[in-house]
Amino acid sequence: MIVLFINAFHDATHGALFKKSKHNEWFMYIFEFFGGNHWLCMRRHINLHHAYTNVPDWDIDIKQSDIIRIFPNNPLFDYHKYLHIYMWMIYPFYSLNWIYIRDFKDFFGKKDNYIKKVVDKIPTDQTYKMFALKVTNLFYLLFIPMMLLHQPWYIILGGWFAMHLCESMLGVVALVSTYVDEDAHFPGTDEDGNLSATWVMHQMIVTKDFSIDSKLANFLYRCFTHHIADHLFPGVGHTYYPYITLIIRSYAQEYDLPYTSYRFYHAVRSHFRILKNKGVQGNIMMTGEI
Ligand SMILES: [Zn+2]
Repeated sequence: MIVLFINAFHDATHGALFKKSKHNEWFMYIFEFFGGNHWLCMRRHINLHHAYTNVPDWDIDIKQSDIIRIFPNNPLFDYHKYLHIYMWMIYPFYSLNWIYIRDFKDFFGKKDNYIKKVVDKIPTDQTYKMFALKVTNLFYLLFIPMMLLHQPWYIILGGWFAMHLCESMLGVVALVSTYVDEDAHFPGTDEDGNLSATWVMHQMIVTKDFSIDSKLANFLYRCFTHHIADHLFPGVGHTYYPYITLIIRSYAQEYDLPYTSYRFYHAVRSHFRILKNKGVQGNIMMTGEI
């Protein structure tokens, strides 16, 4: 499920899976059966994430609640000193939160709703579709197995829950590896709303590749392992990314542009340290020890 999200559906969101845009759109309806909402996903991914990658207050993929503290200007709470411990217990709920909470917040949330920055009004038919497909998703994943499999209901529920935990951990590894490590940049805008770097330069500064030579990582996450290619050439299918990455790397070397690629475990360890440092740093400042 998560491998399809990351690769096939991601390509379709960019119109890169089929030649005709309507075929890409039709394909995205399969995404709905997995619990996602393709209308929302396209606004989030294209209009907010790709257009404003790593820009605080605009890139919806780095939007945080107060539970996590990544940016120095985020509010600081005492419990953030345990960030590096409890976040690894929260990350396994990523897909459940995404499918059954965050989508509803994006549709109906009034406070700090990023979707409303790029969409004047959410079409009513999309709201009905969202409700209908969320119900369908739960119906075939939970109710049909409960009726047909002659298993206690809690076994089915446990299986469904375990599926979400596993896919969340697989997904979170890719997300934190490409964006939120210790060298991550989160460029802000000036008072006119402009970024200082050019579009290409910005993408190369804020986006990273990971484990580009690993067969397993590429099988699972090719859209993420070769993430700079996705950001510079979003309209190209992910099977071409390794070839594009070679060109990007030599171009970056020739013109002295930033190109970063980590091993996946380095990126995950680095994310762990960022969680730890933010908490510790913040607490020292808060208690006035510095
Ligand atoms: Zn993309």
